[in-house]
Amino acid sequence: MKGICILGATGSIGVSTLDVVGRHPDLYKVVALTANGNIDGLFQQCMQHRPEYAVVVDEAKAADFCEKIAASPIADMSVLSGPRALEQVATLANVDTVMAAIVGAAGLLPTLAAAKAGKTVLLANKEALVMSGQIFMQAVSASGATLLPIDSEHNAIFQCMPANYVAGHRAKQARRILLTASGGPFRKTPLEALPDVTPEQAVAHPKWDMGRKISVDSATMMNKGLELIEACLLFDMEPDDIQVVIHPQSIIHSMVDYVDGSVLAQMGNPDMRTPIAHAMAWPERFDSGVAPLNIFEVAHMDFEQPDLQRFPCLKLAYEAIKAGGIMPTVLNAANEIAVDAFLSEKVRFTDIALIIEQSMARFAPESADTLDLVLAADRKARDVAEQVIQALSA
Ligand code: NAD
Ligand code: MG
Repeated sequence: MKGICILGATGSIGVSTLDVVGRHPDLYKVVALTANGNIDGLFQQCMQHRPEYAVVVDEAKAADFCEKIAASPIADMSVLSGPRALEQVATLANVDTVMAAIVGAAGLLPTLAAAKAGKTVLLANKEALVMSGQIFMQAVSASGATLLPIDSEHNAIFQCMPANYVAGHRAKQARRILLTASGGPFRKTPLEALPDVTPEQAVAHPKWDMGRKISVDSATMMNKGLELIEACLLFDMEPDDIQVVIHPQSIIHSMVDYVDGSVLAQMGNPDMRTPIAHAMAWPERFDSGVAPLNIFEVAHMDFEQPDLQRFPCLKLAYEAIKAGGIMPTVLNAANEIAVDAFLSEKVRFTDIALIIEQSMARFAPESADTLDLVLAADRKARDVAEQVIQALSA
């Protein structure tokens, strides 16, 4: 029986994780669930899964949540609040596995704490890895933590790696990674229509049902840019050894090309419960609730080169990882600010790439060797991106 802590339980990945947990009550016990502010969702999850701890990061909402809990049959559950509480529950002695499913930089400190504490870290929160890079990977190897990727592409690549593969190491016979992408909702939209697409159109992903931030990232293909950096770190590959492949059917979730010419692919229906169940059962396998793939319904698969004119964010991500140092941190922070501004209709869709590019131009690839340097770069890049947005709207 393993104890699991789910950081970001109320989000898309959190809900899918609890669905898988619910199928295996003999193998997993929920120790802690966390949410930012969705206290109704968290309350229902707590009623169903009876964790020992619940964290509501937003302090004002935590007070309302405590009242709800006090008047409920689970009044003995501990309720914590504030960002430090995330680190506390991620490192509890009876937590074996931490699902890192907070969106954005807010997930960095608790995910890093779980890695330092030697937990099995199921990593969905790609922004945490992208912004902290080697610091995160070194924390994993120093503590002996087990790192299992949840992002569908990276989970697919992990599954296509040699037996006994450990994340963070270069598989010598693996020549290339083919990182697949759906191309998002605007793959065929006329370029001149892109400035006017709305947040609602951007979050309506053709294949995956996800949170709003990652859905916008998929529409700009910054999601693939972040995943490129994620793949460099997780599999110790050079950016030029990773080819992004647009595969609109989203049936192949990525591939590994070996020196003997073998290309291994992992396939399945686009449902995050597959990578979640893979990581939860690893090195065994168990049921995820995902329907079997009907290969006759798939019938055919397409593969295209990404168009960097349509998707400039992908180009910026290649530039950031090649420049190194703080540049991936800056890319990620500027993107978070730009996506927020787009979702609140302060800037246009095509401004997202512009904001990131202009923000990156104000930084040099200085060292990102310590957490303090990373956090300082993150803060500064957010300020710079806000300034760029103000200049755009002036
Ligand atoms: P989501 O928006 O649906 O959920 C985010 C979760 O994080 C929520 O539980 C929310 O309460 C919590 N959260 C948000 N801000 C917070 C803060 N400041 N402090 C603490 N908690 C906070 O997002 P999602 O789609 O589930 O994505 C989560 C992560 O997983 C992202 O990093 C995303 O890139 C990655 N991911 C998601 C998918 C997917 O299919 N949804 C696939 C691959 C990777
Ligand atoms: Mg992905």
